[in-house]
Amino acid sequence: MFLPLTNLGHRCRAKYKYGFSAFPMFFMFLSFVPLFFIWQWVALKLGIPNNVPLKNHPHSGAFTAIVLPTFAVLFFAGYLLGFAVNALVLKFICGWSNSRLRELFLESNLPDHWYKRCPQCNQARGHLKAGPKTNQQIWWGGWTCPNCGCDVTIFGKSRSA
Ligand SMILES: [Zn+2]
Repeated sequence: MFLPLTNLGHRCRAKYKYGFSAFPMFFMFLSFVPLFFIWQWVALKLGIPNNVPLKNHPHSGAFTAIVLPTFAVLFFAGYLLGFAVNALVLKFICGWSNSRLRELFLESNLPDHWYKRCPQCNQARGHLKAGPKTNQQIWWGGWTCPNCGCDVTIFGKSRSA
């Protein structure tokens, strides 16, 4: 699937995680701009004046039925557009190959240096999906290093230390 932010977030180092969510966030907020104009236009077409509470108007149902799905579509489109821009930046500015992009977006395999690392042995967390191994990991997150068995917190510190 199309690399969801949540999937990326817990395995990826903060620097790359926030870098990667910048464009999707930006375009999601930007989608409010066309929405505002659509809103005005629909209100005009339905003859809803600006100064009257919407729920008192006979066409308020139609207004909601048009504006809400439009909002959802625009918001999601903004999110996808952000990822498309990410892909373009990686391809044309960072010079990534298509196969590398496909791996990142379709298989969620990150480049090695994007992964969080074990504080004890510097092993990359990798893309293996291991569930929580201790009670503390269930409640507070984190992971167990496959190489040295270190219990790592979500902040990348060793729990035993
Ligand atoms: Zn380790």
